[in-house]
Amino acid sequence: MTLFSNSDLPYHAVTRGVVESDQDSEYIARENRCVVQLQAVSRSFGKTQALHEVSLSVHKGEILGIIGRSGAGKSTLIRCLNGLEQPDEGVIEIEGRNITGLSEKQLQAVRSRVGMVFQHFNLLSAKTVAQNVALPLKIAGIGKAQREQRVRELLEIVGLADKEFSYPAALSGGQKQRVGIARALAASPALLLCDEATSALDPETTRSILSLLKSLNQKFGITILLITHEMEVIKSMAHRVAVINAGEIIEQGPVWQVFAHPQSDLTRVLLRGLLPQLPESIAGKLTKLKQGEAIYCVHFVSEDAQGDLLVNFSATLPGKFRLIQGGVDHIQHYAVVRFFIAVFAANETDEQQVLKWLHLQQAQVELVGYVASND
Ligand code: ADP
Repeated sequence: MTLFSNSDLPYHAVTRGVVESDQDSEYIARENRCVVQLQAVSRSFGKTQALHEVSLSVHKGEILGIIGRSGAGKSTLIRCLNGLEQPDEGVIEIEGRNITGLSEKQLQAVRSRVGMVFQHFNLLSAKTVAQNVALPLKIAGIGKAQREQRVRELLEIVGLADKEFSYPAALSGGQKQRVGIARALAASPALLLCDEATSALDPETTRSILSLLKSLNQKFGITILLITHEMEVIKSMAHRVAVINAGEIIEQGPVWQVFAHPQSDLTRVLLRGLLPQLPESIAGKLTKLKQGEAIYCVHFVSEDAQGDLLVNFSATLPGKFRLIQGGVDHIQHYAVVRFFIAVFAANETDEQQVLKWLHLQQAQVELVGYVASND
């Protein structure tokens, strides 16, 4: 079965395997054709600069995540991408075509190249599942027989072949979103733009929708732009991530790299929920005064993603120490390791031995503070 049944469509889906994350640069080179390119895009509303000189590329076949807090400019970016908003300055290219300054009629053609998946599904309640999915095809003037065949194909792909004649009210949230995804894919868009697509779903349904989107990308090479405030969503499926704050892209890169080495304070704050933290019983007692135990945060990235990595690490660590909290996160074939240890501050030999060994392993080691006792 193919996602893109119409062979003369301008965008041809490619089949490829899972992206090998240790070959990010090769991957970028291989998939170098940009589906979307923004160059210094700015948009203001009165004194509010919703977007400020945003430059960004979405490569063909990749999943790019854009993350930011509420009010960061994500919706404005989406509206600029589907032509609902015009930037004050800058250039937006979709499949190499500059869409800034196009007429409403010209923009309609551009919009058909960008499939939208919404947080609240936006289904027509008076229409069946099949009729909802068929809508973009009807608008595009596709004949009835072709439309029906395409709808059946799409419903099969999203796992709703048996819901063709159901109405949205009879579907669960996850099923509604599957209809939304089928509808977004109907006209074989160049880009699937997912706007907080899982924010209204429970964790289990979120996982199933993310897994569907991931398989669409892996099986059919569909390019996806994910806009979300959930780092977990980015971690589980994006290849690259861009962090937006106050209308500016403040950081971007492969997901493992941004997660392992966040550059900005905001990224660190956004990541906080996913990283091991010091237990409150210790964090609340930290002082700068050298005493009791020295608490270190140890952090390193390894291409060796085996599960026993942390065990081996602690077994070979010389000197006496106490492992407080930590773990290994597996992101795009990298093991991102972060843990907290306590070393007796009075025993400088132990402390020096541990630190020397950690530095030899190229781990980043940060002295967090001291605690008076080890309780
Ligand atoms: P996000 O989607 O990340 O929450 P938005 O793009 O909606 O952010 O908004 C970015 C900033 O631009 C906010 O300060 C918001 O209040 C402002 N803004 C967005 N759209 C408008 C508008 N139509 N009129 C006035 N201010 C707007």
